[in-house]
Amino acid sequence: MGLVDKGRMPAPLTKLFNMSRSYSLWVYQWGLACCAIEMGAAFGSPRYDVMRLGVIPLPASPRQADFVCVSGTVTDKMAPAVKRLWEQMPEPKYAISMGSCANCGGPYWDSYSVTKGVDQIIPIDVYVPGCPPRPEALLEGVVLLQQRIKNEDMQAKWKGDEFTTLQATREA
Ligand code: SF4
Repeated sequence: MGLVDKGRMPAPLTKLFNMSRSYSLWVYQWGLACCAIEMGAAFGSPRYDVMRLGVIPLPASPRQADFVCVSGTVTDKMAPAVKRLWEQMPEPKYAISMGSCANCGGPYWDSYSVTKGVDQIIPIDVYVPGCPPRPEALLEGVVLLQQRIKNEDMQAKWKGDEFTTLQATREA
């Protein structure tokens, strides 16, 4: 990937790479509460057949995943584990936040023990609203993620620059 590292990847090749990556996504499922039931239906049931979108459920570990779907209530106690999971994933990596709890705390927004959005811990690419969102909504989120990957600056993403910039912005 020397061409990517040096920022000299020809545009047509970048387009081809991005399209190929967007249709070959291993998803790690991080279910924390009720939203996980809908996530399981979306990623695990033949009715929704997520593999037709080029999404492969159930990698053996986060180290093999291209994106993580965090669904459910993120408690302050669980937050370090979510962060560690994210750090174990290789670049380029992505994250979907599913449901009101993961997006902003949801019904537990005033609880002393709930993190007010998983984006306080990891960078989120797509937010899926709802309490809980239906499987169709999650699949729409996956399609949005694929569109984002197709238009991506590979050099910035593969080097992790986007995450570093995001972290720096949050810490400032
Ligand atoms: Fe449960 Fe609603 Fe929170 Fe999803 S958003 S985990 S359905 S309370």
